[in-house]
Amino acid sequence: MENVKKLIVDYSKKVYDKELTPGKSGNISIKFTDSEGNKLIAISPTLLSLGILKEEDIAIVDLDGNAIENNKPSSEVYMHCNIYKKREDIKAIVHTHSPYATGFAHSHKKIKRYEGFGPINIPYLAQIEYIKPGTVELAEAVGDAFSKSEDMDVLVLKEHGIITTGINLLEASDLAEFVEYSAKTQFIANMLNSIK
Ligand SMILES: [Zn+2]
Repeated sequence: MENVKKLIVDYSKKVYDKELTPGKSGNISIKFTDSEGNKLIAISPTLLSLGILKEEDIAIVDLDGNAIENNKPSSEVYMHCNIYKKREDIKAIVHTHSPYATGFAHSHKKIKRYEGFGPINIPYLAQIEYIKPGTVELAEAVGDAFSKSEDMDVLVLKEHGIITTGINLLEASDLAEFVEYSAKTQFIANMLNSIK
């Protein structure tokens, strides 16, 4: 279990250093199987900056969110659980409030799916309407959204932030970075296009 905790610490620092999770925002997790065959989730804790985590801060929960080790998981733990329960192929989740992508989430504009990461099977990233963060209702809506398609790897939470997923934390965090830069690129293009 020390190995999965180190992965959460290392990738939390990575997404924080890339300015994807400012302040105490954002949370990341991985699904793993322990030595006894139990499917568990290692997740960043609540109310701590992702930039300063230590291995003892990392929470371990089961797929229903029940505490196995450290009872202070992220307030969005049920959102993570529901995605893992609905999609067996997803092994890692990164949730950010990165500024450009979240700016789009707070606007009436959708984020384009740019060339450069995964298949461009839809013109815009999928999104769901605002539901209060940390609630069971949000967790259920997010789980339902990810269950719609095996290709679904990003979800925009309107007026809130972004969720990216992958087969490991490298893929999920690279996608979080790519989504942020896609939103930034789109913002720059929109600004330039508005100049006569
Ligand atoms: Zn959030």
